[in-house]
Amino acid sequence: MRSGFVSLIGRPNVGKSTLLNTLINEKVAITSKVAGTTRNIIQGIYNEPDYQIVFMDTPGIIRPINKLGKITNKQALSLVKDIDCLLFVVDASAGLGKGDKFIMDVLKKTDSPVILVLNKIDKISDEDILYNINEYKDLYPFAEIVPISALTKDNTSRLIEVIKKYLKDDVKYFPEGMKTSNSKYFMISEIVREKLFDVTLEEIPHSLTCHTSFYEEKKDIINIHVDIIVDRDTIKKIIIGKKGERLKEVGTRSRVELENMLGKKVYLELFVKTIKNWKDKERYIKELGFLDF
Ligand code: GDP
Ligand code: MG
Repeated sequence: MRSGFVSLIGRPNVGKSTLLNTLINEKVAITSKVAGTTRNIIQGIYNEPDYQIVFMDTPGIIRPINKLGKITNKQALSLVKDIDCLLFVVDASAGLGKGDKFIMDVLKKTDSPVILVLNKIDKISDEDILYNINEYKDLYPFAEIVPISALTKDNTSRLIEVIKKYLKDDVKYFPEGMKTSNSKYFMISEIVREKLFDVTLEEIPHSLTCHTSFYEEKKDIINIHVDIIVDRDTIKKIIIGKKGERLKEVGTRSRVELENMLGKKVYLELFVKTIKNWKDKERYIKELGFLDF
């Protein structure tokens, strides 16, 4: 038996959540075309008869622009310590940027082996893959460099094999069959949040949060309420849409996925609420569970 903890680190939008989903083979982390939509540390657990890998998805390391930003930054930094190995995920199709250099400076504070994961290789040529490898390899003493595509699953099983070399423990941390340690309520609100981003696309900034406020399981149906919290009435209007059409679409899409996940009919009610400057109000942040790490 070999086991260990592995953190995914990288700029927003490079594909960390997608990779986590691919490796765990179930939807555990929100993925979105809008940068910075993962705020919480999401653990996904990979199981094989003789292996257990506990993955942690870090929120993208971003410059602290408000309290929430600062918290996620601290959170991200704390994740480079005491870890069996780190996956530094980069977008190979975007090339080396300032943000990557900033993260590599952070990584210098850790003794843990760092695997460079060159993601999105489905978008570039083999020549460009080599170019990327050369560009990164002199900047940091990476333990390994693995080019992959989280989207097409190209080379992701090889990544698992590489990670196995760095697992140090010989205990099973979580019972088998458990794929994520996140609570059901959290998963529910994440699904609604994802559908919101899908439906509204780039129209809304990512200053919103979702919170499951009610959950009642009956014989044939589950009643669920989710609050969508934004900081401005203008955003609230956008989310609701003309005659409530947008919110209805978000509700329909969410319900379909929730019914799949929960295996029962779902009656879902969504409430959009404005809380001015919620990002700067730690009280709310606490209430919403962002500080439970
Ligand atoms: P995160 O912010 O690092 O967690 O990034 P996400 O996992 O949310 O992904 C950001 C965007 O990149 C999404 O639109 C994904 O579908 C896309 N993406 C992720 N991995 C790949 C990949 O391997 N290839 C391509 N073409 N797109 C990807
Ligand atoms: Mg993410």
